[in-house]
Amino acid sequence: MSRTALQVRGLHASVGGLAILKGVDLEVPFGEVHAIMGPNGSGKSTLCHVLAGKSGYEVSGAMAVDGVSLADLDVYQRAQAGLFQAFQYPVGIPGLDLAVLLEEAAVALGAGPEEARERIATQTRRLGMERFLNRSVNGDLSGGEKKRSEVFQLAVLEPRVMVLDEIDSGLDIDSVREVAGAVEEIRSGEVAILMITHYSRILNYVRPDRVHIMMNGQIVDSGGPELADELEDGGYSAVRSRLGMTVPKVATRTPSVSDFFTDTPFDL
Ligand code: ADP
Ligand code: MG
Repeated sequence: MSRTALQVRGLHASVGGLAILKGVDLEVPFGEVHAIMGPNGSGKSTLCHVLAGKSGYEVSGAMAVDGVSLADLDVYQRAQAGLFQAFQYPVGIPGLDLAVLLEEAAVALGAGPEEARERIATQTRRLGMERFLNRSVNGDLSGGEKKRSEVFQLAVLEPRVMVLDEIDSGLDIDSVREVAGAVEEIRSGEVAILMITHYSRILNYVRPDRVHIMMNGQIVDSGGPELADELEDGGYSAVRSRLGMTVPKVATRTPSVSDFFTDTPFDL
């Protein structure tokens, strides 16, 4: 049987008494790519934050990376346990060069300095990152370049579990294809990848082993890649009616900002 890389059991999370995650169960074995898809506000980013150890949530339930429980660990200790989160909106860090960040981070995660530099050199060639290395992290990068930089960091740091929160959001189709190609390249038996995505577009390029659908803080359905195809064809309402869930009435309205910025934690 394949070893479990990421295990989540009965995970609940709330903010100020408001329940957001309502019992999430998830298992991702090494070597597999799992996608979590769900409408805006279903709790996808909260799941990423809670896994990474962001403060401000009341959390209960179990989370483990390669058998190591995350519950009592700080953010950096979760990274040391092998968890890496790529951000939906990577922030710039003026004054800190990408090469310096990566060498320090790789060493902090247990690589020798020589090995760290070697990994950086190898992945730089592989992902064509030469011109970004000696610039500030995410400084003046386009959306696509920031996402490529995130994948480059993943490739160098070699985590056991990668959580990619909407790595495709805000990208044009060529960038989606490029970022997906980079994710496919780092796919291996040593890593589990959890791809959070709102649209099935990226799943045309990174084929997941399993697809989970999250609604209202729970995983309501899991299946093979065909689930993403169902969503592509019928949207979330098709899934809701198949599962016998009540379909909320959608009033005709003009699109709002939160339709485009999908981790906005409130309706604009
Ligand atoms: P998704 O990533 O699936 O779009 P989120 O995890 O960002 O969803 O948000 C899930 C729900 O929790 C939303 O209704 C959001 O408004 C709410 N939420 C998230 N973070 C907070 C917070 N810090 N305070 C209050 N509500 C929050
Ligand atoms: Mg989100």
